[in-house]
Amino acid sequence: MPYSKQENQPKLATTAVQAGINADANHRAVVAPIYLSSTYALKGFNEKGQFDYSRTGNPTRATFAQAVAELEQGSVGIVTSTGMSAVHLLCQLLNPEDTVVIPHDCYGGSYRLFTHLAKRGLFKVLVVDQNNEQALASALASHPKLVLIETPSNPLLRIVDIEKIAQASHQVGALVAVDNTFLSPALQQPLLLGADIVFHSTTKYLNGHSDVVGGVLVTKEQALGEQLAWWANCIGITGSAFDSYLSLRGLKTLAVRLKQHQENATQVATFLQAHAAVNKVYFPGLADHPNHDIAQRQQYGFGAMLSFELKGDVDAVKTLFAELKLFTLAQSLGGVESLISHPSTMTHAGMELEAQLAAGISQSLIRISVGIEDIDDIIADLEQALTASQVTANTNVKNSKPSAHSGQKLSPAFNGFW
Ligand SMILES: *Cc1c(COP(=O)(O)O)cnc(C)c1O
Repeated sequence: MPYSKQENQPKLATTAVQAGINADANHRAVVAPIYLSSTYALKGFNEKGQFDYSRTGNPTRATFAQAVAELEQGSVGIVTSTGMSAVHLLCQLLNPEDTVVIPHDCYGGSYRLFTHLAKRGLFKVLVVDQNNEQALASALASHPKLVLIETPSNPLLRIVDIEKIAQASHQVGALVAVDNTFLSPALQQPLLLGADIVFHSTTKYLNGHSDVVGGVLVTKEQALGEQLAWWANCIGITGSAFDSYLSLRGLKTLAVRLKQHQENATQVATFLQAHAAVNKVYFPGLADHPNHDIAQRQQYGFGAMLSFELKGDVDAVKTLFAELKLFTLAQSLGGVESLISHPSTMTHAGMELEAQLAAGISQSLIRISVGIEDIDDIIADLEQALTASQVTANTNVKNSKPSAHSGQKLSPAFNGFW
């Protein structure tokens, strides 16, 4: 699995580490201080300083915003309270007569937000499989204002061609926004591929330590960035100073974390693919992944998210989860610790079972966010749990228990509150 290194990658590690370093003129603090103050004194009557009120502007948040803007090679960075509020900020670009095109397999929360606001008449939404050229072309023929791209997708790690979709979208005058949460700028830089906006749930790889919920949005052009920054202040969704401080701290190790994350993920993918308990592995780094070539072209690496189909029914899945010791059964991704999840009852519980199956999400599909623990421990934990899962699978086959695919309905663990 080749790993193509872009010229700008060493610079990326430097930018991430150096963000805010040695910038404190007051006390010469090496690390950027955290400014919790909600308000800032005027210099004099009707004479504002650089900051006046922390919803509008905050020095800690500004340092983090600028760091991500530099990493994405854009003009303006806007730090928001959550990843979803970054998506909500995008919605401010849309008027009732405007159409937004969203991918059919985008993040569930984004799908919910766009479809529910469209139901209230705030704008029109078209849900499209962007790898289906005809479907995409007919959606673009309606002259959308905004095209949303998310690649790789969750949980099947499908990849779409950002450059191609951006070109086609620009031809009809649409703006292009890319959700880059699954890779981070260390592995993919959508603005360089033609996107106008890139955004993240910083909750995931950018902060990387599972202790912040946050978002960030970066625009290529200054004017669009200023327009969105105006809206972020207007609707009050800017991120807190404390979260910005933690995220800035997390960002410093982005390059080394991702290097180790994906080194481990590659080994996990190879291990799973060869394992008798596994039917199929979804990882863009594998040569048999249907979009492997696009991933190779537009990404600097294959990331650390993967999914696989376990042999056996849902009882085998339950045994696997019960036996795992190092992996935590939890939502979210991108933290240093390895997480495992069951899309059908967790992230995609809001979808009907039939819709899940149509989207390729079976009840034996399991998603992993590969952490940066020692790879031997990760593999050993998976090995023993996979072996145990097959004892359950074989027992159920002997007792000819109906399989999970034959209409058995699982109760969702999260009631759609993802
Ligand atoms: C988590 C996530 C979001 C939403 O971010 P929050 O920080 O949870 O609000 C959006 N897009 C993707 C791809 C995500 O994984």
